[in-house]
Amino acid sequence: MAPTALITGITGQDGAYLAQLLLGKGYEVYGVVRRSSHFGIADHRLRWLKIQKDVRFLDANLTDLSSLVRSVEAARPDEVYNLGAQSYVASSWQQPLLTGNVTGLGAANVLEAVRIAQPNAHFYQASSSEMFGLIQEAHQSERTPFYPRSPYGAAKLFAHWMTVNYRESFAMHASSGILFNHESPLRGIEFVTRKVTDAVARIKLGLSDELRLGNIDAKRDWGHARDYVEAMWMMLQQEKPDDYVVATGRTTSVRDMVEIAFGHVGLKSSNYLVIDPALFRPAEVDILLGDPTKARKTLGWEPKTTLEEMICEMVDADLERHNNQGHL
Ligand code: GDP
Repeated sequence: MAPTALITGITGQDGAYLAQLLLGKGYEVYGVVRRSSHFGIADHRLRWLKIQKDVRFLDANLTDLSSLVRSVEAARPDEVYNLGAQSYVASSWQQPLLTGNVTGLGAANVLEAVRIAQPNAHFYQASSSEMFGLIQEAHQSERTPFYPRSPYGAAKLFAHWMTVNYRESFAMHASSGILFNHESPLRGIEFVTRKVTDAVARIKLGLSDELRLGNIDAKRDWGHARDYVEAMWMMLQQEKPDDYVVATGRTTSVRDMVEIAFGHVGLKSSNYLVIDPALFRPAEVDILLGDPTKARKTLGWEPKTTLEEMICEMVDADLERHNNQGHL
């Protein structure tokens, strides 16, 4: 019988790539979605990957435990991936309580639903490098102390520890992937890489003449989402559940990432870049640099895509989108 997976956040970047990966492996894939009267299902990413007809949708919300229990009962999944969240750090200061409810308590609701309805399912929690925040070690590994710097980071930390606790308290196969920033043409437009590649494409096509950014000295360890969802799946195939850092082990400033994007279309960033103080954050995570040794040794996972390859892929996708008036 085909294995079955249930994914929360299936309409997001990682949900779409994970669904594609699992469908390719012969899984039956269920996706939890929030239907609403005027937006329907926001499945444009699944349509971009041409898999929207292959996914079965279940109507549920991370803040509504009974809807999650019903979803788990309907899907009877072998694997549950909790990727749903309010995932944008900057918004988490504007909506700290909603972020706590969805990103933090939402994970506890999914854990509860699995414990109640399908306790033997393997569970994946999307933990985040934002939990390291004000970094306590130059290279962040599974042993590095956490120090979140935003309501988002604090909510993710609660979800992370709940996952550890359900593993230890109820012997659940619950694993947590501490993923560093991961991007792709399917990344939301608010995130800095996609904001940059979209602006570069529009400037190249004469549709815009500036790119406004905040703190371009911030450094991130950026990988490709398509590579990172493989690590999620690998974690759930292990005999024992555990926590893993997933990163490239290389950090790059926003400034240098911007150079790569403009360089790809033969333009100079200094002619278009505007620094806007309004885009600086109340508290910043200055630098993130992951140590993925454990994932490499235990899971056999390796990132396949370089930052340069990824940024060029994103600029090309945005050029194509603006040329075709498409929507991503
Ligand atoms: P995050 O690491 O999850 O917060 O991912 P983002 O892509 O949102 O931000 C990465 C870094 O880019 C942060 O340090 C931001 O402060 C910095 N940054 C600088 N300008 C911008 C901007 O205009 N938008 C966003 N999203 N980030 C920016």
